[in-house]
This record gives sequence, C-alpha cells and structure tokens, in this order.
Amino acid sequence: MTEKKDPQCAMCGINVMEKICFFESGRGPASCPTLGFEDLIQEARKEYEKPEVREFARLASVQEGECYLDRDRQPFVIHCSKTRIQEICEFGHKIGAKKLGLVFCVGLAQEARIAHEIFAAQGFEVASVLCKVGRVPKEDALGVKDGEKIFIGTDESACNPIVQAKVLNRVKTELNVLLGLCVGHDSLFFKYADAYTTVLAVKDRVTGHNPLAALYTSHMYHMYLKQPGF
Ligand code: SF4
Repeated sequence: MTEKKDPQCAMCGINVMEKICFFESGRGPASCPTLGFEDLIQEARKEYEKPEVREFARLASVQEGECYLDRDRQPFVIHCSKTRIQEICEFGHKIGAKKLGLVFCVGLAQEARIAHEIFAAQGFEVASVLCKVGRVPKEDALGVKDGEKIFIGTDESACNPIVQAKVLNRVKTELNVLLGLCVGHDSLFFKYADAYTTVLAVKDRVTGHNPLAALYTSHMYHMYLKQPGF
C-alpha cells in the first residue's frame, strides 16, 4: 500500500471556484484528501446511510443554509443572519431535542446564566454543570503539584469534564452545549459525553473568548506566535 500524504487543506492555494472539493472539474494539490482518500470518502458515505446519522447531518446542512439570507437572489451575495446562539436553538428544535446540557467554566458563569435563560425562553429544559463539579482536589486525583496550580498553596479543585459528561449522560440530555471549557478539558468532555455536543464559545482568557483575534493580529501584535516555542 502506498503511503498517503498528510492532507494540507489549510495550505491549499487553489481558488475556491477551481477546487476539486467544490467542483467535479476542479483540481487539488498532491496532498488533496478529496483525491487521495477515496476509500474514506466511500466509508463516510456508508456512515451517512445510517438513518440517525443521515438525519442529523441533513438537519445540520439545512440549518447551515438557513443562516444565509436571500439565497434565491441571483447573483447570490453572502448575507449572514443568525448568531451562534440562535443557530443552536434552531438546530436543537430541528433535531427534536427537548433537553439541552450546558457545560461551562466557572469563569463564564455569568454568560452561562444568560445562555440558560435564552435556552429556557426558547422552550428547552436545561441541565447545566459547572467545571468544578465534584470538588476533586488537583493533587489527589490528578497528581498536579502545588506549583502547577493557579492558586499556589491552596486546595484547588480540578476541572472535572468527565463528571460533567457523566451527569449529563445520566439525566439524558439530547444536545450538549459547551461554553468556555479549557483546552483539554473540552477534549475530555467530547470523549465522555453520550449526546452530540456543539460549542457556543471557546475560552480565550486574553481576547474575551475570541481566539481568532490573536490570529487576525498575528502579522503584528501577536507576531511572536510564529516564533518556534514562542
Ligand atoms: S480537498 Fe483538495 S482542493 Fe479542497 S481544499 Fe483540500 S486540498 Fe484543496
């Protein structure tokens, strides 16, 4: 078997109107996964044949389309209309979810309350679980050293994304919404949650939870990000 090149879509220099992933007549570079991973494309198509997966994916696509205005206008010009929280509410209703799970970081407790209120106003039951649930000490449970804690010299509870997931699994949420969990804690939540999870916002302590701000300014004020090892 020949070794596949790692896909490099993020570095693909082909114009959108000429990409093979958009048009049958298009093209892709040597690393193109549309051209080099045909077996996986077929495998994924089989997954979409499962009724539950197919319906979920179909509704995600329908929701995606509905986030643009005036799609019947020619020529079509992109005009977006929906905030992320509106999109989540609409998608939750589309998939028939009655109960949402909200997992959040203590640092975004105010935002979590507002999100909860909005979800409730839109007719959902909401089960929410804070990151420190369970009050598990960082030292005991995880072997974190005192100098590795945020508040050195204190008893510090670890974030507990596995419990967050397990509590929501037990109360049978139908769609989970992640709000501001730390990098890695979010990964564990995704791994242990039974229901599908979507993201309202990710945490970025410096940019007001807008991590792309650092990318937008990486040509100047965040240029150090491109220095190896910072
Ligand atoms: S799938 Fe191929 S053509 Fe499309 S972005 Fe990736 S490398 Fe480019």
